[in-house]
This record gives sequence, C-alpha cells and structure tokens, in this order.
Amino acid sequence: METKKFDVVVIGAGPGGYVAAIKAAQEGRSVALIEKSYLGGTCLNVGCIPTKTLLANADVMHKIKMAEEFGITTGQVTFDFLKMKTRKDQVVEKMRGSLGGLLKSNKIEILNGKAEFLSPQEIKVKGEDNLIVSTEYTIIATGSEPLDIPAFPCDHQKILNSTSVLELTKLPKTLAIIGGGYIGCEFASLYAAFGVKVTILEALPSILSLQGKAVAQALTSAYEKQGIEIRAGVFVEGIDTSGEGVNIQLKGQDPFQADLALVAVGRKVNSRGLGLEKAGVKVGEKGEIHVNDKMETSVPGIYAIGDVTGKFLLAHVASHQGIIAASNVVGTEAKMHYNAVPAVIFTHPEIATVGMTLEEAKEAGYQPTIGQFPFQALGKAVATLDTDGFAEIIIDKGTGQILGAQVVGHDASTLIAEMALAIHNELTVECVSDTIHAHPTVAEAWMEAALIANDTPIHMPPRRKR
Ligand code: FAD
Ligand code: NAD
Repeated sequence: METKKFDVVVIGAGPGGYVAAIKAAQEGRSVALIEKSYLGGTCLNVGCIPTKTLLANADVMHKIKMAEEFGITTGQVTFDFLKMKTRKDQVVEKMRGSLGGLLKSNKIEILNGKAEFLSPQEIKVKGEDNLIVSTEYTIIATGSEPLDIPAFPCDHQKILNSTSVLELTKLPKTLAIIGGGYIGCEFASLYAAFGVKVTILEALPSILSLQGKAVAQALTSAYEKQGIEIRAGVFVEGIDTSGEGVNIQLKGQDPFQADLALVAVGRKVNSRGLGLEKAGVKVGEKGEIHVNDKMETSVPGIYAIGDVTGKFLLAHVASHQGIIAASNVVGTEAKMHYNAVPAVIFTHPEIATVGMTLEEAKEAGYQPTIGQFPFQALGKAVATLDTDGFAEIIIDKGTGQILGAQVVGHDASTLIAEMALAIHNELTVECVSDTIHAHPTVAEAWMEAALIANDTPIHMPPRRKR
C-alpha cells in the first residue's frame, strides 16, 4: 500500500477538523484531512445548518401568524413541507461545495476514507482513497453521533433520531420527543410551528435542566402557550412499533401514543474503531479522548478536539479547540479556556447563555447578584411585537465582574455575543452600563440589565432596599 508523508494529519472534516486543517496549512504545513463521509461533519450535514434552515421556515410562519397584529391580512396560509426539506438539502449542498473550495484554496489534501491508527505516527486510510499516511502530528476530530438506547433502538421509520428525522418529507399529526435537551427542544419548536401536536417526554424534573432555572421556566411557559406538551419526570423504558404509530412505555405510568417518536437523549463520541489502542491514546468511560488545555492527548504529537473530547459538544467550541491544537502543533503555545463559551438553543423564543448561571456562581463561592431586564420595557421590542423574554446579567457583588449572562427572546443568538466578549475579557458591569448602546435596539437590554445589577436602574423602578 502506498505511504505518503504529511506534516499534519487531521481525522474528521467537521467544524473542529476542517478549521484545524486550515490553521495548520496557513502556517505553511503540508496537511491531509481524512473524512469517511461528507465534508462539514455533523454540523453542516445533519446538525446546526439543516436544523437552522428548517427553523428559518418556522420563523416565517410565526411572523405570518402575527401579521394581523401588524394590520396585514394574509388570507389562508398553506405550506409545502417537501419544499422546505428540498431547500434545506440545497443549503447543505451549497455550503459543502463552498467548504471543498475553501480547503482546496488552502492546499489541503482531502483523503476520502476511514482512518485507523496503525501506530502513533501511521494511519491507514480505507475507502475511496486507500493508503497509509505517516506524520509527526495528528489531530483527531471524529465527532459524535446520536445515542441509540438498546431498549428502544431507532428503526428510522417510526423511531427516529436527529439524523433520520431530517429526511421526513411529510409531517406526522403527533410527535413524541424523548429528551428535552437542546435537540428535543429545537425540534419541538420546529414541528409545533407547522401544526404537529408535540409532546416532550423528559426524565428529569424539567426540560433544559442544565441551563438554569430561569431559562427552563421561560421556555416551559412559552411552550405551554404554543400548545407543546411537556411531561417531565417520566422515564421512557421502551417503544412498541407493532401497532399503527408508536406506543411508548413509561416507567410507572400509562403508555403514551403518537404517530412518530424522535429520540434525542444525547450523543456518543466517535472513538471506537479508530485504533486508538495501537497509538496508545487514553480514553474515558464513555470513549471520550482525554486532553489537556493544549488539546494534547496522552500521546505526544497526537491531539484531539471537538465532540470526541466530550467537552461541550458545540460547533464553535470544536472550531476554537481546532485553532488551539493547530497553534500548538506549529509551535505557538495556546491554551483553551471554557469560562466564556456562548451556547444558543434555537427554540421559539431563542435562548442564549454564556458563563455561569446564578446557581453555579454561588457554588463557585462568589456573592452573585442579578440584573434582569424584560423585553416588554424595550421600545424596539414593543415596536416589533417581540416582547416575550428578558436579558439577565450575573455579577460578583464585590468586584462587579460579569460572571454570566442569559437571554431569552427574539434574536438572543445574536445578542449573546456582547456578553461573550465581556466575560472573555473579564469586564465589569460598568463596562457595559457605560457603553453607549444604539437606540432603539434590543441590545439596550444589556445596558439596562447592567444598571439594574448595579442598583442604578433607569428604565425600571428602583429595587426595594434589602
Ligand atoms: P463532527 O461535526 O461530528 O465531525 C466529525 C467528522 O469526522 C464526521 O464528518 C465524521 O464522518 C468523521 N469521522 C469520524 N470517524 C472517522 C474516521 N475514523 N475516519 C475519517 N473520518 C471520520 N452545535 C452548535 O454549536 N450550534 C448548533 O446550532 C448545533 N445544532 C445541532 C443540531 C443537531 C441536530 C445536532 C446533532 C448537533 C448540533 N450541534 C450544534 C452540535 C455540533 O454539530 C457539533 O458539536 C459539531 O459538529 C462537532 O464538531 P466536530 O468537528 O467535533 O465533529
Ligand atoms: P442533551 O443531553 O442536551 O439532552 C438529552 C435529554 O434527554 C436530557 O434532558 C435527559 O434527561 C433526557 N433523557 C435521557 N434518557 C431519557 C429517557 N429514557 N427518557 C426520557 N428522557 C431521557 O442531548 P441532546 O438534546 O441529544 O443534544 C446533544 C448535544 O448536541 C447537546 O449537548 C448539544 O451540545 C448539541 N446540540 C447543540 C445545539 C445548539 O447549540 N443549538 C443544538 C442541538 C444539539
């Protein structure tokens, strides 16, 4: 078998791997990028981009439903779900093509096939391309895939996962979503917008339990208004598909019926079959590759980034880890910090968080205080009928340092960037309140929340003295 030598080999062309490959190539290294499936990984093909493309349709639907309030009469509104799916496929294909061009322009050699370590410095590629690559530096970016539960494995006909649900060409009447985390909630918002009766079955006491109480409560009450049913504290034990739809067995409760079930109970990392044992790379209990803050694994010269490290499972974290790993590979020391990772849940309303929740700040030993500003009190939000939601800043009372921020409401995904910048740069609450924010904008909510956290509110009544 042919052997080819590269300065750097990257395994997996998701947002972690392809970014690392570009960074290493820009630094003048010869780079091979091995991918067994599609360029762009989970994010571009079956994750971030297809889901947000479909959710963009839901946004249009929400606006149309509100048209009457703006004095616009629309008549009967109909939609074609197949057309929406086709548009989603076109968006993915277009972006995949652009990514291929970008990688080529950086002179990265793309090898199509499955990678497997033969030794710490040799990797076999098997597939469309068949060869052995040898290298001093490898960056593993093999990502993750949907977790399948043995008691109710996905058949991709009636029991779907986040990948197979994207292939639906027509809508079910009723959908049971197992798991009220990121994926469950985003799909709930999507399908409910088009009239599907959605029920979320969540084992924990609330949906989005990791995001803090304020956020979980806000989405729960928004979902109640939208007719999305949440059944929290129910544990799914099995699914019977022998009848017409799905018959879902719940621990200690009556079964639940729906046309289809979507299983969204987490992800499993892709580290099996990579030959890690031949390279000597250590993994944890769930197969996650252990890394330090330089993204180095237990073996010198081998790095790991993205979902396969089991940290955060977000595309932008994978990409940032890719930059850190590639920087270290080319000899520029860099470390990963996780105190200012923005996270967005693209539900209706959107939810975005960065830094600590109030509960986490207390646990970390801070004396936190909160400034929360409702969108109802913002001129821009009232003008555009986007008054549901709030922006909240968590600060340390003693120093004024911003520890965390959360925003629920229209365009939360864009708004969170200001707080990520503030927390990353260890800014204080005055840095935000002293910054002139354009009027009328929803971003003014941060300035107002900062003023409230500092007990100097302008557009809200003074807080009662404690
Ligand atoms: P991946 O994107 O999973 O890419 C890994 C690549 O490695 C794959 O292409 C795979 O084929 C390849 N590979 C695996 N093993 C091998 C091998 N042995 N040889 C060769 N190639 C291999 N994150 C966000 O930040 N925002 C979002 O809005 C968002 N939405 C999401 C929606 C859904 C439905 C899902 C499922 C995920 C979403 N995510 C989102 C998470 C995001 O997709 C992941 O965090 C991100 O893709 C991880 O990037 P990665 O590079 O680590 O791995
Ligand atoms: P998750 O961990 O966010 O949520 C899974 C939920 O399923 C949990 O609340 C859990 O309690 C519940 N659950 C598990 N077993 C159950 C059972 N038997 N019965 C009932 N409930 C059960 O996982 P996810 O929603 O699959 O998402 C995976 C990851 O993908 C996320 O952690 C996130 O990092 C990433 N993602 C990000 C975005 C985004 O950034 N917008 C979107 C989608 C996915």
